[in-house]
Amino acid sequence: MNAPDPAHASGPMPHVLDTYGRLPIALTHGRGCWVWDTAGRRYLDALGGIAVNTLGHGHPKLVPALQDQVARLIHCSNYYEVPLQEQLAARLCEISGLSGVFFCNSGLEANEGALKIARKYGHDRGIARPEVIVYDKAFHGRSIATLSATGNAKVQKGFEPLVEGFVRVPLNDFAAVQEVAHTNRNVVAVFLEVIQGEGGINRTRVEYLRRLRQLCDDEGWLLMLDEVQCGIGRTGKWFAHQWADIRPDVMPLAKGLGSGVPVGAIVCGPRAVNVLGPGNHGSTFGGNPLAMRAGVETLRIMQEDGLVAHAAAMGEVLDRALREGLAGAKGVVEFRGQGLMIGIELDRPCAVLLARAAEAGLLISITAERVIRLLPALVLSADEARQIAAILVPLVRQFLAEPAP
Ligand SMILES: *Cc1c(COP(=O)(O)O)cnc(C)c1O
Repeated sequence: MNAPDPAHASGPMPHVLDTYGRLPIALTHGRGCWVWDTAGRRYLDALGGIAVNTLGHGHPKLVPALQDQVARLIHCSNYYEVPLQEQLAARLCEISGLSGVFFCNSGLEANEGALKIARKYGHDRGIARPEVIVYDKAFHGRSIATLSATGNAKVQKGFEPLVEGFVRVPLNDFAAVQEVAHTNRNVVAVFLEVIQGEGGINRTRVEYLRRLRQLCDDEGWLLMLDEVQCGIGRTGKWFAHQWADIRPDVMPLAKGLGSGVPVGAIVCGPRAVNVLGPGNHGSTFGGNPLAMRAGVETLRIMQEDGLVAHAAAMGEVLDRALREGLAGAKGVVEFRGQGLMIGIELDRPCAVLLARAAEAGLLISITAERVIRLLPALVLSADEARQIAAILVPLVRQFLAEPAP
């Protein structure tokens, strides 16, 4: 037997692996955009479970529907027909204009499946070593293939060798992707987030997306748009790419699709929908009745309550309140985002703001070290949007006034 390695054996041993930097807060329940912790403190939730809780917490229409489904059937395996899969797929195709869906359980799974589609698409066309164009600062997940596609050395470090078959380019630089088209005959797909989330809320320009669509058509490539974070109404359209009036060939979804119940989807257009056949892909949990019901009800309630347009309107209220509140503050580099996907870049690392905001009763995220990220539920009210700014603005002003550490 090997002796225990002291580097891995210090401190009290928790039972849950220590892979997250967590705040010492345990949440017990929530309602709308508010959550409570074990000490009875209340927080305004501007994180939304990282863009997951589309309908907020304890939504009065979602809760009874899920209770009903839990009592009927949670899981039954893909050995059988699952009519709710057909329902959710039909609705996703209706709102995206695409043709077919594979269901899985998370964002990385949806992206992993998209990458399998790209490789198979290449092999079907006689390309033995297919390659996919990916982007600086991209985030696509934590599996070996998706972390290889991710453009962040911190996510990759310690997990080499990376998966091969990726070519990396900077975002919004069309000449760079054209250069790849001229020199690399193995490319089969372009894979990017319409708005980079973990990378710091970086928008792909509308004109760039349109030119990319055209290039993919000219070259016979798949345009694969990772809408895991920016999709499902958050930007004020069902999908962020719809602002550019284009359609992707492959669109991985997850986060907000089930309002908190784990569900992922790969939505495919005509060029990709027949690439995978029987035996090519699968998932034990994927498309189970509970997850499908959560997706169906989320999209239904969003439609009924006009939440896509509401996200755009509340995004404007929040954006305006933040810009007004921080006007003239030295150290604010840029306000970015669209709808209820908002980033404020500061000129210095600002991770300490996470705990300070929680202390002040506000849940936020800090990403890419210097970007305050807000992803509240789409049920946010105008009053709550202004409250987010009212708590956040003085914290940021005070932080920026402190001498650099
Ligand atoms: C969160 C995220 C993922 C990964 O999703 P998981 O469900 O955590 O695997 C992939 N792509 C984007 C754009 C994301 O924001």
